Amino acid sequence: MQKDQLFTRRRMLVAGATAAAGAVGTAGLFVWGTGGQPVRGPAPAAGPPVHSVPMEASAYRLHPLAGHGPHGAVPARTPVRRRPLLRISGRGRTMVLTFDDGPDPRYTPAILDTLAEYDVRAMFFVCGEMAASYPHLLARMADAGHVVGNHTWSHPLLTRLTRRRIRSEMSRTSDVIEDTYGERPRWFRAPYGAWNRAAFQVGAELGMEPLAWTLDSLDWTTPGTRTIVDRVEKGAGPGVVVLSHDAGGDRSQSVWALREYLPRLLDSGYHISVPYRRYA
Ligand code: ZN
Repeated sequence: MQKDQLFTRRRMLVAGATAAAGAVGTAGLFVWGTGGQPVRGPAPAAGPPVHSVPMEASAYRLHPLAGHGPHGAVPARTPVRRRPLLRISGRGRTMVLTFDDGPDPRYTPAILDTLAEYDVRAMFFVCGEMAASYPHLLARMADAGHVVGNHTWSHPLLTRLTRRRIRSEMSRTSDVIEDTYGERPRWFRAPYGAWNRAAFQVGAELGMEPLAWTLDSLDWTTPGTRTIVDRVEKGAGPGVVVLSHDAGGDRSQSVWALREYLPRLLDSGYHISVPYRRYA
């Protein structure tokens, strides 16, 4: 099965055979349809750059991706940044939940179950070697409409690597994401939050925006479920991007914490969503 067909099959599962049918294999607009399900709409008409990602804390104007065709094409014109994006801006009390280092079959399925229970989409910054080991979890993320980002292949400290190694770590991961998730990632996150100029440049060349976080749950220190819940609830706010982990150690506290804070955030009026980017 061709990758495009794979992509289409997965998206059709969730989007239904409506608007997506007309956009098979073409550049399109990635939007959130009614009911929160992703659909691929028709390519927008040529026009001025659209500020497609509601981001702030950056002096750079975002440009729509250009030239992204079928699989393998590298989107052009992604800006090279000097800092990662830290939060999102949007209407109302919108927050983003992100989970790093996975997927891990011990924890990721339970996180996906909780997100599904509350009909919430999140971002997963996966490591290539994990994605290659557990492709079914990437397929599940695609079917549920979650956004998968690039967190390098083996989780190295990028600031100690040559540019060539950085490129290898990131491009291999984008390749395996495309194979397992159905499309190339549009976001990346440096391991340990350790960014450097080469990482920003390589990421931009691969068509990805760097996304950091606003609120570190510090779940990797296994401080106890209650502490994680408290951190997230106290740090909640419009535009906040929460960092948690679904792999890299015992993440059972992260799993249990999500089950507690997610319904409370929703009850408090927060809209949990994912940022999107528009193709040109
Ligand atoms: Zn990480």
